[in-house]
Amino acid sequence: MRVGVPKEIKVHEYRVGLTPEAVREYISAGHAVVIETGAGAGISAPDAAYEAVGARIVASAAEVFAEADMIVKVKEPQPGEWAQLREGQILFTYLHLAPDPAQAAGLVESGVTAIAYETVTDRFGGLPLLAPMSEVAGRLAIEAAAVSLKRPAGGRGMLIGGVPGVPPARVVVIGGGVVGTHAARMAAGLGADVVILDRSLPRLRQLDELFGGRVRTRFSTLDAIETEIFAADVVIGAVLIPGAAAPRLVSRAQLSGMKRGAVLVDVAIDQGGCFETSRATTHADPTYEVDGVIHYCVANMPGAVPLTSSYALNNATLPFGLALAAKGLDAIRSDPHLAAGLNIHRGDITNAPVAASLQKPY
Ligand code: NAD
Repeated sequence: MRVGVPKEIKVHEYRVGLTPEAVREYISAGHAVVIETGAGAGISAPDAAYEAVGARIVASAAEVFAEADMIVKVKEPQPGEWAQLREGQILFTYLHLAPDPAQAAGLVESGVTAIAYETVTDRFGGLPLLAPMSEVAGRLAIEAAAVSLKRPAGGRGMLIGGVPGVPPARVVVIGGGVVGTHAARMAAGLGADVVILDRSLPRLRQLDELFGGRVRTRFSTLDAIETEIFAADVVIGAVLIPGAAAPRLVSRAQLSGMKRGAVLVDVAIDQGGCFETSRATTHADPTYEVDGVIHYCVANMPGAVPLTSSYALNNATLPFGLALAAKGLDAIRSDPHLAAGLNIHRGDITNAPVAASLQKPY
C-alpha cells in the first residue's frame, strides 16, 4: 500500500503522523511511504531522516493526498484537507467528530473511509490510542503545577518536593484513571504528599497495590473532595465520565476555603473541565487567577511536547496502521477493535455514538 503523511496544519500542532522509526516498519513490511517536506520538523526529524529509511519526500500536501492509499495524521483534517480526500482512500487520525458537524459533512462528502484513533478499543475495554496522550498529559500536569507553584508565577512560592526539614506540597489528584495515575506517579517521584480520589472502589484497590502505600487513596465524595482541596497546594482534575461532560466537582465558593496561591490543573478541560471556574487556556498563556487560586487549563497539553507525544502515539498506532496497510478494509472486518474506530465509510456515518451526537442516521 502507498502510505502518506502530510505536514500537520492545525494551529500550533507540531506532532507528526509517522516518526522515521515507524516509517521504517512500513517500508520493511513492503509498503511505500510518501512524506510532505518538513512534516517531521516539529519533532526534530528532518526530511533526510525519512529518506534514510526509504520514504519519498514530496513538496506539497496535495501530492501526498493524490498519491496515498492511506493517509496517517495526528489532528482532524482541516477544511482544505477534506476536499483532497476521496473514495477508496483510508484516513487514520484523531477525528473527534461528535462536536464537529462541519468536519463530519466534509468527510461524508469526500467518500473517504475514516478511522478515528479515539474510538479504537482494546480487549480490556480501554481506548488504546487515546491512552498515550493521557499518559503525557498526566505527567505534564505535575510539571505545570511545579511551575505555577513558584512565587513569580503567582503561586505559594513552594518547592513541590520540599527539602529535608521542610514539608513537601500536598497534591490532590481527583480521578485515578490514566491521567491521574501518571500525575500521581510524577508527584510522588518528586517527593510530594499525594492523595488520589476516585469513585471506583476497584480502581482505588488497584492504585493502592500499585503505589504500595506511597500514595493515599480516598473514595471521592463531595465531602472528601472539600476536605482535601482545603488542605491542598496542588489539585489535579483528572476525571472522566465516558461520553459525558466532566462533572463539576469544585465550586467557585469553595475556592475561598483554599490556600492563597494554591494551583488547580484542570486536565479534564477538554471535556468542559471539573472546576466551576475553569476555562480553556493555551500554551502561550496557560494560567489565570480566580480568588487567589492559580488555574492551569490547557486543552491540548501533549502539544507542548510533540517529540514525546509523537513517539508515544506512534507506539500505539503502529500495529493498527500496519494491519490496515497490509489488509486494507479486511483489517477492519477481521478486528472488532479497529472496526470500533471506523467513523465514516463511503458517505455513511458508521459509529453509533458519533451518529447520535450529530443527529444523523447510523
Ligand atoms: P480515565 O477514564 O482513564 O480516568 C478517569 C477516572 O475518573 C476514572 O478512574 C473514573 O472512575 C474517575 N471518576 C469519574 N468520576 C469521578 C468523580 N466524581 N470523582 C473522582 N473520580 C471520578 O480517563 P483519562 O484518560 O485519565 O482522562 C481524564 C481526563 O483528561 C479526560 O477528560 C480526558 O479527556 C482528559 N485529557 C485531557 C488532556 C489535555 O490535554 N487537557 C489530554 C489527555 C486527556
